[in-house]
Amino acid sequence: MTKNHPAPADIERAIRNIPDFPKPGIQFKDITPLLADARLFAGCIDLLIDGFKPGTVDAVVGIDARGFIFASAAAVKLEAGFVPVRKKGKLPYQTHEQQYELEYGTATVAMHVDALKPGSRVLLIDDLLATGGTAAAAAALVQKLGARILEISFLIELKFLSGRAS
Ligand code: AMP
Repeated sequence: MTKNHPAPADIERAIRNIPDFPKPGIQFKDITPLLADARLFAGCIDLLIDGFKPGTVDAVVGIDARGFIFASAAAVKLEAGFVPVRKKGKLPYQTHEQQYELEYGTATVAMHVDALKPGSRVLLIDDLLATGGTAAAAAALVQKLGARILEISFLIELKFLSGRAS
């Protein structure tokens, strides 16, 4: 860890736990207090891009919606482009879509068909890893365009859901 990185305990303290949101049984991780803290927000971006220098990443792909906040800041720091993976029906141009399983039912994410060049080097970012379904679907879209995922970075991992296995 470099000296400018925030301590994990400081990050954890700045994330507010909201019980039973958006539905009973879910403990929602509210990152807005963290985003409002200039030092922690900047430090989290540094953590998410740790090990990457400008020029080593062509595009940072962010996942709808809180992933956009971190991925766009990371893209600026890495001098890379920003590409959104959105929920189905939100992107205006032609898209590739990928469905994935939720606890009850399915969800679909989409990416513009020309969002990434084949062979481009991609860093994929989201705020939180739960079951891993969303990130796996986003990764499948990146791969469908022939781009190469260098790393998938998250700020928060809900370990009890074993999302890494996805
Ligand atoms: P999953 O596909 O199960 O890994 O879910 C990850 C996605 O759902 C991320 O985009 C998160 O922003 C969101 N998410 C899932 N669970 C939570 C939670 N407890 N608090 C905040 N966001 C969550």
